[in-house]
Amino acid sequence: MLVIMEEKATPEEVEEVMERIRALDYECHRIEDEKGVVIGAIGNGRGRHRLQVVECLSGVERVVPISSPYKLASRETKKVKSYLKVNDIEIGNGRVVVMAGPCAVESEEQLMETAGAVSEAGASILRGGAFKPRTSPYSFQGLGEEGLKLLAKARERFRLSVVTEVTNPQDVDLVASYADILQIGARNAQNFSLLKEVGCVGKPVLFKRGMMTSVEEFLMSAEYILSEGNGKVILCERGIRTFETSTRNTLDISAVPVLKEKTHLPVIVDPSHAAGDWKYVSSLSMAAVAAGADGLLIEVHPWPERALSDGSQSLKPDRFRKLMNDLRQLARLMGKDA
Ligand code: PEP
Ligand code: MN
Repeated sequence: MLVIMEEKATPEEVEEVMERIRALDYECHRIEDEKGVVIGAIGNGRGRHRLQVVECLSGVERVVPISSPYKLASRETKKVKSYLKVNDIEIGNGRVVVMAGPCAVESEEQLMETAGAVSEAGASILRGGAFKPRTSPYSFQGLGEEGLKLLAKARERFRLSVVTEVTNPQDVDLVASYADILQIGARNAQNFSLLKEVGCVGKPVLFKRGMMTSVEEFLMSAEYILSEGNGKVILCERGIRTFETSTRNTLDISAVPVLKEKTHLPVIVDPSHAAGDWKYVSSLSMAAVAAGADGLLIEVHPWPERALSDGSQSLKPDRFRKLMNDLRQLARLMGKDA
């Protein structure tokens, strides 16, 4: 249920309503925007009728049911778009935010070279995996904490924010102590214990759609993070598995407007893992921005032929620079910055 407070409701009235809701064994989520306070009462549905009585409390405008199964992610609960701040970068607020870097952190030389190039080209966030979820146990698994330290070094040197993946619940605190944004990868889109764990930290989460999750399942998974109290979730479409084999995955471009309609959360696109081939990355990036994406996550490597993972889909720095220039023009056309 949503309890919509009157615009002039006092903090005491809001608190009184929240106490009544909690007494009925419902969790309260306070959502505030310029139109006032809305309280999301989330529970298992028992005692729902008794919840209706809060409508009589002072300061309450009305009580309405939330029909969507993803209560906190839903646009029904929050009409105004959410944006979040990572250092001085706003994600979801009228700017196309580009996160770029290697698939995996491989060495200091590789990371510094890439970070310098993407920063110069205009990216604001550096990506790079230190813990890599690889399909094969024999593939490079990432440098672990040493990789996190290199990311922290690159952040200092190039004044970039850092996004990096966390693959298991025990590593969440460690990764959060180095990263500005925690990435949850496609393979963990339904790893509910991991989702709950990142829901308990204060850092933003870049949450990737699973390769076999529907939009609804994706949003139900996002709900695991939100319901633990972390509202700083960025959704990322990265391609889904279809019968088509000419690309690594099929970029579900329609997921962008669909997600934007159904949720208030920022939506970005990863064209690299969708395409699996650097040749298609620029076109898909432009398509994503044209479809309304709030940002992009792009793999860049100075020496793709030597990359320890995903070299074939990584852009070289000069191509990335060209793409950034094209994106700036497109963003301007759409009334955004890049
Ligand atoms: C990645 O971003 O490096 C990655 C592993 O992506 P995904 O989880 O989308 O496969
Ligand atoms: Mn990759």
